[in-house]
Amino acid sequence: MTLDQVTENLKSLKQLGVKVIDFTGGEPLLHKQIDEFASLAKRMGFITTITTNGLLYPKFAERLKGNVDMLHFSLDTADAAKHDKMRGVSCFNHVMKSIEIAKSLNERPDILFTVFEENIEDIKAVYKEICIPNDLILILNPSFEYNQVKTGEGLSQHSLSILKEWGREKNVYINNAFLELRKDGGNQVKSPVCKAASTTIVISPENELILPCYHLGEKSFPIGGELEKVYHSKEAQRLISLEGKLPECQGCTINCYMQPTFSTHVNKYFWKAIPSTFKYNRIKGTWKNLLPMS
Ligand code: SF4
Repeated sequence: MTLDQVTENLKSLKQLGVKVIDFTGGEPLLHKQIDEFASLAKRMGFITTITTNGLLYPKFAERLKGNVDMLHFSLDTADAAKHDKMRGVSCFNHVMKSIEIAKSLNERPDILFTVFEENIEDIKAVYKEICIPNDLILILNPSFEYNQVKTGEGLSQHSLSILKEWGREKNVYINNAFLELRKDGGNQVKSPVCKAASTTIVISPENELILPCYHLGEKSFPIGGELEKVYHSKEAQRLISLEGKLPECQGCTINCYMQPTFSTHVNKYFWKAIPSTFKYNRIKGTWKNLLPMS
């Protein structure tokens, strides 16, 4: 992905009504110009977000400063060896270093904790030993199940209750709609809740539009400087209309798409998501950017 392609895409995304740009991965800091992308998106008035494992953040910190509204450091336990084992790369100490550097630059990163059965007991230590002393928000991200992509065990009802309790703590964010969806068995193809393709536009590193969502990736459309045209094409719209209805969509709980789904379509999940969404945006000060007039 080149800076020219990103520039063209951001212009189109603006026209398509997009508000938030999530530079995501894998590891987004592997792209050498990620700081230029974030800076451009910010200048164009988007809310920006990046999640990193911290390995490359120290290198980019100065250049990213002020251009990432929601900067997330992935941390799944306060136990260094366990975290490195879970992530498959030695990055715990880099997260600690990244927190230090971000704070010295007056940035306020969040800790993104992906919750599995094997680390749910570790939330306490991450909250008390890392988030509280550094005044950081702890985002609890329940692991999601997906038929094609093996993402680990689903969370038990007991674990979902534990997460709900954590959501009451100061500076802890958990979207209760995620928990509710899991209790309901995830997306149901007969009555789909998922609005992945109509609320999120996924662009691959190869500059392709991926539909209906990245994880399913039924089809890729080369963008070639014409994102709006490609997005409005008959075939793209056909795939968008199949969001949540394909056989693989049964039971899906992929947070990345359910988050925008729940914030744009009024149903019981919308109301469940409201308190935590306001809590997070109030603390971060990003709520103003989400007003329709902004
Ligand atoms: S339910 Fe939605 S997010 Fe899940 S696989 Fe289907 S289209 Fe993708």
